[in-house]
Amino acid sequence: MAAVAVDDVEALRDAVRCGPRVLPAGGATKPALSAPPAEDVVALDVSGLRGIVEYDPAELTLTARAGTPVAELDGALAEHGQYLPFDAPLVAAGATIGGVIASGTSGPGALRYGTVRDFVIGVRMVDGTGELVCGGGRVVKNAAGFDLPKLMVGSMGRLGVMVEVSLKVFPRPRAAATVAFELGGLEPALAALAVLARGPVELDALELEPPARIVVRLAGDPEPLAARVARVAALVGAPGEELDATVWADAAAFAWMAPATRLVRVALTLRGVAALQAALAAAGARARYSNAANVAWIAWPGDCPLAVLDATLRELRLPGVALTGAPGRPLLGDRRGGAFLDRLRTALDPDGRFAEL
Ligand SMILES: Cc1cc2nc3c(=O)[nH]c(=O)nc-3n(C[C@H](O)[C@H](O)[C@H](O)COP(=O)(O)OP(=O)(O)OC[C@H]3O[C@@H](n4cnc5c(N)ncnc54)[C@H](O)[C@@H]3O)c2cc1C
Repeated sequence: MAAVAVDDVEALRDAVRCGPRVLPAGGATKPALSAPPAEDVVALDVSGLRGIVEYDPAELTLTARAGTPVAELDGALAEHGQYLPFDAPLVAAGATIGGVIASGTSGPGALRYGTVRDFVIGVRMVDGTGELVCGGGRVVKNAAGFDLPKLMVGSMGRLGVMVEVSLKVFPRPRAAATVAFELGGLEPALAALAVLARGPVELDALELEPPARIVVRLAGDPEPLAARVARVAALVGAPGEELDATVWADAAAFAWMAPATRLVRVALTLRGVAALQAALAAAGARARYSNAANVAWIAWPGDCPLAVLDATLRELRLPGVALTGAPGRPLLGDRRGGAFLDRLRTALDPDGRFAEL
């Protein structure tokens, strides 16, 4: 079925209320989630709901239509020395702020400042009955009512279509340094990661490139930066190699993924890395670990069924979600919250107008 484009709220409400079941799509950078998974579901192209509605640099808040590309927000924020510190992935590919929130995707900067969940302060969305529902607000101090904005994080277009979102933003640090350490093997790399994750140096990002490379970003005032880098090297017990910031743009674009591999995100802890790495090696898959190894980004080979990864993740009791590749069953591995999701869907989408998950 051809996608239905909506560029105003009334057209969106009509599309949700009548016709085939719908699944919103923003920049379609995560097609495993946003491409229609069944013939009776139509893609609702919300990329026309675009533009910054209100930006108050003094208040560190921004409101934008949900289909606005994050790159557009980054550009407006940069003019005032501000940014969204959670480093949304796939921005260069066209990720929209609605899609980033609905997918709950955050990048390396989430280590220090929190994930996208910590930055969403308000939302207007159309629920499954076609009603326009508002939650939170455009200012940071707003605690009234049910925390609908947080509920939309990870909702994957299945609880409502976001029309407008409000975010808090941060001042960009004056300087940053990126340093890579080669540790000789997975075990020493994990040990160094554990030391750095515990402190005492506050890191902006802490990533593992298996088997043996750790990449660290420090940010803040320029003067103490060199001393902080030296302190990290002392904690790791190895000399570091300074890198330029392109390494972060490459990470956000998943430039390390081989062609025809599918991107899968897995939530885990540092302790789970060794077992996951062993399982991935057996399947010929590669991974990168972000946020002190609390997130694994897996490049799953296109010729190996996702069912194999699903079984592996179940065995390891890890939850995963496929972001790219064909739509189908994106949730993999350990499933949690099914009963809760059922109750939410009964409340927000009683007639099943959104695609099933
Ligand atoms: C109750 C519940 C249970 C869950 N259980 C699991 C689990 O067992 N395992 C797991 O891995 N994850 C689970 N999740 C999701 C989990 O919480 C993560 O947040 C989720 O995996 C994040 O999705 P993603 O990053 O993979 O999506 P993405 O990468 O991008 O997805 C894009 C999504 O954005 C949507 N979208 C785009 N624009 C809009 C818009 N304007 N308005 C609304 N939607 C839009 C699209 O429809 C698409 O679904 C669950 C979520 C809920 C609510």
